[in-house]
Amino acid sequence: MYGFSQCEKYLKKMNNVYIEITNVCNLHCSFCPCGKTPLSATKNEGEHTLDSATLQNAEARTFMPSELFEKCIAGAQEIGATNVYFHVLGEPTLHPGFVHYVKKLEQTPLKLTLTTNGSTIERTGPQILASPAVRQVNFSTHAYAELPRETAERYLQNVLDFCSLSIVQRPDLYINLRLWNVGAEEASLWNSYILGRIRKTFNVEVTPGHFCSRHKSFNITGRIYLHEDTRFEWPSLEDRRKTKDERGESRTDKHAYLYDRAEQSCTECKDERIGKEIVAGTCRALDTHVAILHDGRVVACCLDHSGQITLGNISKQTLPEIINSPEAVYIKEGFTQHELRHPFCQTCHFCKRFK
Ligand code: SF4
Ligand code: SF4
Repeated sequence: MYGFSQCEKYLKKMNNVYIEITNVCNLHCSFCPCGKTPLSATKNEGEHTLDSATLQNAEARTFMPSELFEKCIAGAQEIGATNVYFHVLGEPTLHPGFVHYVKKLEQTPLKLTLTTNGSTIERTGPQILASPAVRQVNFSTHAYAELPRETAERYLQNVLDFCSLSIVQRPDLYINLRLWNVGAEEASLWNSYILGRIRKTFNVEVTPGHFCSRHKSFNITGRIYLHEDTRFEWPSLEDRRKTKDERGESRTDKHAYLYDRAEQSCTECKDERIGKEIVAGTCRALDTHVAILHDGRVVACCLDHSGQITLGNISKQTLPEIINSPEAVYIKEGFTQHELRHPFCQTCHFCKRFK
């Protein structure tokens, strides 16, 4: 349906592919959909080993098989991506094939930006530092604010040790220590502790006093940064439904029907939205990035952890086919016209950053 020129347009632009190699996580952050597994389900809270109870209790928590991963990296190269991430949800270093997957990347031009909670860095750090495929590591150190203090301090120490080693072994590696909990009062003690530990480890004063939407990144030393942000809110159709109910609006109209059908393709929106509410907004999804979930579902962005905007499946189609499908093109065209055409996007706080 779409000629080569249409595909070529994407080839020039789509730089990043999020590959969720697992949606399993060993932490249980209250602000994360991945953290809903009960704490009691882990044998050894915070450690990388997972007992059978964890895996049973965790709803459809799985590891991406090698064959599917190969398709993902082949697809990423087909669309001209240069960078992959190993997550949407989950802790990628828990994947039994994590090191093997990093090595696979070394045989391609793709570079990895790894986002990790850092809980396994003592074990996986040497391989990460040794791999030229790893371009950047983001540590979600805000996750530690909810852990028992002793565990939190141990994880942080391991992360800081990794940073110190990287200065010597991999000065080209970018590292972000993420503190995405600005304004969360319950995290302020932990945040002060982190700043103190950074000061002591690197002998530098980091004073992230001027945090604002345009100033979130503060250099610590070399390529190591403290990255601050406000707590992340996941888009949710449930929230959208609640809001409409709370507003007392009728959900018997066609537009409401679309919300109920949002797990399917949104091509129906195209006709039925006419005369209905159109939410203004834009987003870089399907322009600069696309995401692939652990089971091969391709979704528009890294926020769609439950596949609300499923555009296809990498196990059955190629990535260029999927990102050029009528649904994908329709949603992307909406972004260029400042229209959030998919109901899921209309619940998204993240896209409000792009005015
Ligand atoms: S560590 Fe990350 S993936 Fe795991 S529960 Fe916390 S925010 Fe979610
Ligand atoms: S608007 Fe939000 S939910 Fe929609 S594609 Fe963009 S980031 Fe994802």
